[in-house]
Amino acid sequence: MSDVRLRFAPSPTGYLHVGGARTALFNWLLSRREKGTFILRIEDTDVARSTQESVDAILQGMEWLGLDWDEGPFYQSERFPVYKEFVEKLVAEGKAYRCYCTPEELEAKRELAMKEGRKPKYDGTCRNGVEEPGDKPYVIRFKAPHEGVTVFDDLIKGRIAFNNDELDDLIIQRSDGTPTYNFVVVIDDATMGITTVIRGDDHINNTPRQILLYEALGYPVPRFAHVPMILGADKTRLSKRHGATSVMAYRDMGFLPEAMVNYLVRLGWSHGDQEIFSREELIEKFSIEAVGKSAGVFNPDKLLWLNHHYIKESAPERLAELLVPFMKERGIDPESGPNLPLVVKTLQERSRTLVEMADGAIFYYQGDFAYDEQAAAKHLVPDAAPLLKALADKLEALADCSQTGIEALFKEFIAEKGIKLGQVGPAVRVSLCGGTASPGIYEVIEALGKEEALRRLRRAVAIIG
Ligand code: GLU
Repeated sequence: MSDVRLRFAPSPTGYLHVGGARTALFNWLLSRREKGTFILRIEDTDVARSTQESVDAILQGMEWLGLDWDEGPFYQSERFPVYKEFVEKLVAEGKAYRCYCTPEELEAKRELAMKEGRKPKYDGTCRNGVEEPGDKPYVIRFKAPHEGVTVFDDLIKGRIAFNNDELDDLIIQRSDGTPTYNFVVVIDDATMGITTVIRGDDHINNTPRQILLYEALGYPVPRFAHVPMILGADKTRLSKRHGATSVMAYRDMGFLPEAMVNYLVRLGWSHGDQEIFSREELIEKFSIEAVGKSAGVFNPDKLLWLNHHYIKESAPERLAELLVPFMKERGIDPESGPNLPLVVKTLQERSRTLVEMADGAIFYYQGDFAYDEQAAAKHLVPDAAPLLKALADKLEALADCSQTGIEALFKEFIAEKGIKLGQVGPAVRVSLCGGTASPGIYEVIEALGKEEALRRLRRAVAIIG
């Protein structure tokens, strides 16, 4: 194991968003490529907005995508004593101070600054120490340097510099004694030995403040990589208006996790013009430096295309397992009918999602369907009845009911009757499937099994008759 340490640090205030999932994925990939350690940290200091439900949703999303972590989950809510200790240390070293300014005083100063066209900033009233006025409430502020520049070389965005005189004396502990966000992130990343921080670029403005804290605490500053956000087709930030943004919603829409992973990684990262990457290939080829500087646009059609690819590539047995809940949602118990992996095999080419596959599989399990009216009017005609009957009789005697056996039987049958396949095929299809949009008839017969295929052919004969 190398000493590379990465983390994903979600705030549990909702589901796992596709943007968050991509950040998690980038961290995970890099940790795997570098043979480092991947840490999961739940940033639940905002007690009012954090929920257990949302923690569960995040863990579930990570699990679904196959992003396993080596340490954690650590919960910030369980680390308050650690933060307290560091606040006290900074105060003792004169690097932080108690500020007794009241919210009203601060607000008045802020308004004045705005009126005079100055940038509102803490004016430093308490910075150099004040007499402790009894039990007056106070916050603790970081005594940030006001001169110089804070510079970092972002692995994605390049060099970024902030003038220190623009940075405020950050509050690190509120008057109720709880620590603030920018402070706990630094304490955690520092004490957890994080070597590279990969996170959304909405945190870029926090980074200089955090760097100053690392320096004050005497910890090495990690490297930073700020990932551009994900946009919708209209180039605004991806939101519910553009469709589902929760990773698990994509599972429910019938996407495979490998398609999601492949899609998310390509949303911002590229390697030549290759589109399809196995997990192993990603681990080998991914690099944070190759992530683009500009925002990626979420393209549902491409995700569908990738999903179709992975559905075609997957083992039918695995897809069958994933398909079961979708079948049950449609009131079908797959145990009650044809072998599900065989059914899946007939549908892989034509299904872009498991939802499409489940819809396409219904006819296998609900044999007493109503025929598609147009298809029945065209193909289940009196002339077809004797052909379907003769075919059923021939099928009944068939020993080899594999696709090859069935195909041979059809060839023999049309030769005997002196007809073309097109003269009987559509009627067979409608009899077996209820309509004309279906997998090939040999595959369907194989998957249905001889008994059920016979029953359906004879049902059609009876209905025509
Ligand atoms: N908890 C923060 C968020 O969910 C992430 C902070 C970080 O990665 O530094 O946006």
